[in-house]
Amino acid sequence: MSSIAKSIIVKCPTCKCPVSWIPEQLYKPFCSERCRLIDLGGWAMEEKRIPGESLDLELDDNEDHFFQ
Ligand SMILES: [Zn+2]
Repeated sequence: MSSIAKSIIVKCPTCKCPVSWIPEQLYKPFCSERCRLIDLGGWAMEEKRIPGESLDLELDDNEDHFFQ
């Protein structure tokens, strides 16, 4: 009953280094603002690479054939 101070450690999604899950860690789950910005940039780039519309239509079509 004396492990209140035990903190949770998570891995920074960008650089994989350990980050303590504490209120003082402003950028959790990232280790720093830099890693947070890198991750946000990565998401934005991924979004741009997805063609979207045509892919969705193809998937819908395949599903129809599968169920018939
Ligand atoms: Zn990091």
